[in-house]
Amino acid sequence: APEQALELAGRIRARLADGVLVGPDHYRPTMSIGIVIAGPDDVPITALRDADTAMYRAKERGRDRTEWFDPSLHRATVASFELERELRDAIERGQLHLVFQPILDLDTDEVRSCEALVRWTHPERGELGPDEFIPVAESSGLVVPLGTWVLRHALAAMKEWPNAVRVSVNLSPRQLAEPDLFALVRDALEEFGVHASRLILEVTETAVLQDPTAAARTISTLRALGLSVVIDDFGTGYTSLSFLRDYRLDGLKIDRSFITDLEHGSTAIVDAIICMSGALGLNVVAEGVETLAQLEQIRSLGCRYIQGYLVSPPVASDELPFMKLPRAATELGGRRPG
Ligand code: C2E
Ligand code: CA
Ligand code: CA
Repeated sequence: APEQALELAGRIRARLADGVLVGPDHYRPTMSIGIVIAGPDDVPITALRDADTAMYRAKERGRDRTEWFDPSLHRATVASFELERELRDAIERGQLHLVFQPILDLDTDEVRSCEALVRWTHPERGELGPDEFIPVAESSGLVVPLGTWVLRHALAAMKEWPNAVRVSVNLSPRQLAEPDLFALVRDALEEFGVHASRLILEVTETAVLQDPTAAARTISTLRALGLSVVIDDFGTGYTSLSFLRDYRLDGLKIDRSFITDLEHGSTAIVDAIICMSGALGLNVVAEGVETLAQLEQIRSLGCRYIQGYLVSPPVASDELPFMKLPRAATELGGRRPG
């Protein structure tokens, strides 16, 4: 089955992620994998050729990744080329905007941080969610200028927020690998007059595993600025306990798929993640909480922060819960502004 093939590819890649010792030297080979699912009537040589095509696509897309062969590969390439061209203009033409999703602190019942999520108002197709264009942005490298746009606009939006509220911004794998990421973040914070402690950067496990040594260095220099770095979609990758400790991360966000599974009785993974996070002093956010039943389960497992439709969908900055209160009441915890 496709999932099994993908799972196997993931396991193979995870195995090599730590690198190999050849004599005294440590190497970290990259691995591009092409997968083809062949039917009983398929000619082996065709399957091999198609797997090869998929493998070359993996190389094209930056190497060290897994790609599927699919017959519409050709058509898809044309479509994504078109989307890439349009996205290039979208940034300049002001077609992007941000929405923010509150993260609720269950201990205090307050919203103390919001995740910035990008939207694209496409001239013909209307509002597009990131799942429809981030992959193209990532493979074309456009995600770097796009990410800069997101960071700057998120910081600008914070001008109107109470001082105690932080913003959480997604960093793509490409951005994490950019040599000038540190300078960019430092300068943006200074330019917008936002204290570093109000910024949280979300990185994925896959982004970190692409080059663990470089990622560790980047993460620690960023954290030295005073901001937080958390792991997004936790549990979907291959992060180990020691990884969380060694990278000195500030927290993690449990992927929505695990929260959905709670209702079907599988609490073991979420329970384990929360326990080990507590032991390591990490903040935990449960993502995609949609029902009261999930909320109660999460609360009873000891998770402190939740994000999801139950609290609020992503909304415009001026629609955030703390923006609707009279200004004097917007400072959280009853503190006065300034
Ligand atoms: P993510 O970081 O995991 O963001 C959470 C996604 O889950 C958001 O989708 C949000 O709208 C959705 N969501 C929140 N609560 C619920 C819920 O209760 N139920 C369900 N079913 N979904 C919920 P969105 O905005 O479509 O973003 C999708 C992904 O796109 C994000 O996943 C993130 O990986 C990426 N993304 C978004 N904005 C940016 C950005 O500025 N830069 C980069 N590099 N990636 C971004
Ligand atoms: Ca995120
Ligand atoms: Ca997530």
